[in-house]
Amino acid sequence: MACRVVPDDPSVEVSHLGPDDLHALNRLTAYNRPELEGSDLRCGCFHCGSVFLAREVARWMAEKGGADTALCPHCGCDAVIYETPAFPLSTALLTTLYLGWFGPEYEERKNAATYAPSFSDYEDWLRKGIPFLMESRPADQVAGEVDLFREPERGDAGGMVRIETRGPRDLVLVDEWGRSLPYTVMTGQHRLVRELAEKHGPRLRGLIADPNDWKLRLIVEHA
Ligand SMILES: [Zn+2]
Repeated sequence: MACRVVPDDPSVEVSHLGPDDLHALNRLTAYNRPELEGSDLRCGCFHCGSVFLAREVARWMAEKGGADTALCPHCGCDAVIYETPAFPLSTALLTTLYLGWFGPEYEERKNAATYAPSFSDYEDWLRKGIPFLMESRPADQVAGEVDLFREPERGDAGGMVRIETRGPRDLVLVDEWGRSLPYTVMTGQHRLVRELAEKHGPRLRGLIADPNDWKLRLIVEHA
């Protein structure tokens, strides 16, 4: 079943989880059949980012030491948490847990990605669950990667960007709404970007997948 990532409202608070919180949340994922079966509790899976009601869980994993464990109805993983007073369920929370518990998988998916939806800053990236939504599209070709310099105090927007060459010196990154992004390409790497822009025209796109990386992946779209 396709994953169901639901973006949080911008008012949702992004909580910063310590190791104790991560472990408390991870404990919710095991032996949870008595709490969840047939109930209307809101649940989420921090492997695929889907949110659903507890009664949608259809498969359970037998455990030797206790009650059964819920498997996600979307991806089949035993990474299902449910809403508690201490931890209101949100996509930002699922994203944070994904990065904490599935870090190597995230790195692998990110390194292969050729597409990610747009985001306006780090918290927006968490609230939209961008790490669950980045994709490697078979028709796209990765043509290189360059380093970005971020202009201080201007945010961490990203996703798919258009690369505009303005005059002999300027490379401007523009988001899907036409706003220029707060990054500049390192001067020594301008030549590569210009050559690719000349060769591929508007089929050349940039991808900023992770607001902490300051990398621009150069994608040639063949859609
Ligand atoms: Zn899942």
